Amino acid sequence: MKRILFRAAAAAMAAAVAVAAVSCRPAGGASAGEAPAADPQIAQTLAQVSIDSVKVYVDELVALHTRHTLSTQTDPQQGIGAAVDYLAARCGRWAQAAAPGRPKPLIERVSYSVGEQGGRYDRVTQVPELMVTLPGTEGEREILLMAHIDTRVRDVMDSTAFAPGADDDGSGLACLLEAVRLLSQVPLRQTVKCLFVSGEEQGLDGSRHLAARARAEGWPVQAVLNNDMIGNVRASGTELREDRKVRVFSESRSGEDSDSRQLARYIRETAARYVPDQEVVLNYRADRYGRGGDHSSFQREGFTAVRVCEYCEDYERTHQDVRTEDGTAYGDLPEYMDFPYLVRNIRINLAAVMSLALAPAAPAQVRIANARELDNHTVLTWDPVPGAASYQVPCRETDGAEWLPALPLGLSGQVPAGQTEFRCPLSKDNYYFAVRALSAEGHPGLPGVAR
Ligand SMILES: [Zn+2]
Repeated sequence: MKRILFRAAAAAMAAAVAVAAVSCRPAGGASAGEAPAADPQIAQTLAQVSIDSVKVYVDELVALHTRHTLSTQTDPQQGIGAAVDYLAARCGRWAQAAAPGRPKPLIERVSYSVGEQGGRYDRVTQVPELMVTLPGTEGEREILLMAHIDTRVRDVMDSTAFAPGADDDGSGLACLLEAVRLLSQVPLRQTVKCLFVSGEEQGLDGSRHLAARARAEGWPVQAVLNNDMIGNVRASGTELREDRKVRVFSESRSGEDSDSRQLARYIRETAARYVPDQEVVLNYRADRYGRGGDHSSFQREGFTAVRVCEYCEDYERTHQDVRTEDGTAYGDLPEYMDFPYLVRNIRINLAAVMSLALAPAAPAQVRIANARELDNHTVLTWDPVPGAASYQVPCRETDGAEWLPALPLGLSGQVPAGQTEFRCPLSKDNYYFAVRALSAEGHPGLPGVAR
């Protein structure tokens, strides 16, 4: 008897979903329970990521000799000043050529003072960095892409030695440059900001300055993707190579379901959809042992931030003086990078950023309404999300790392737009549940996890 009722409930729910699916999906879109279909506009933009352009950016950045935070700001051929000029000039040309009807990109040079409190500085000075804003047509939220301009050699205070920084972090800068070039050609609902920060090697000072400004000015930041070293595939010492995996580090200070962890899962999902030949590995750590990155500056200010980083690291490259010693060549030069790998990582970034910038916000106040009842159902409620054309309820087992692509037992997790309650015959004790809002085109937003 119970079994029959259960089946009837499942069938009724599947029928309701079929209606929702018809009303909010484009022809050929995903059916109930499947992952959303790929958006041809996103796929088209990703296809335009150019290996030739990326190589040129890295070569031109390396040609600036050093981008050390304390290097010259007046020499047009080298140093941090020339690097910021170079990035601003490139982005300025793309801003001028932005697609008609798209809000114009804004280029802002910023600076901050260093050295008053000591640290890795030998003087008090103003340090430049750059912020490029690609305004969204709606722009209630901001998605931040970040990479660091500055480079170093073994001696972190040496501001004049050749410090090419091809991978660390020319690779991240190349990602941001391609983002500005390509996203200035497409309309997005939400705003994307590219932060070219300095002071990373001296102690994350440039990102700390911008994170404090974001907090003080109340930037509506939804996600921060820090790209630091995304173009190397060789592990020095072990000689392992991995050119089909990239790590996304997410901290867990607020538990398995921290917002950073949701963002990391989202990047993995969109990568699987749009860049299936590269795997995002979820690394449940803030960063590598004994090291950090600019995403932590934003985490400390309470923002949702992750780090994208190559799977293998080459310690004969990073932070080395360029030299040959005992037959081994050291130094972070472009010839040791893997550019097809870098291109795939740039595509992974753009897939996540575009999908987020086209999707509705995460639902707020997602609650298990029957949490205190002896009831084998799960009843979820949430606040309506502006711009949501439908909702989807994913779940995962309590030891599961990822949201399942569909609810178990063939149940549907689809909910039509007007509804903000969901009831299903799965026990709230056996799963984690979330709710995500979908745009009319089927772009899924970040999940709001049921508490
Ligand atoms: Zn770095």
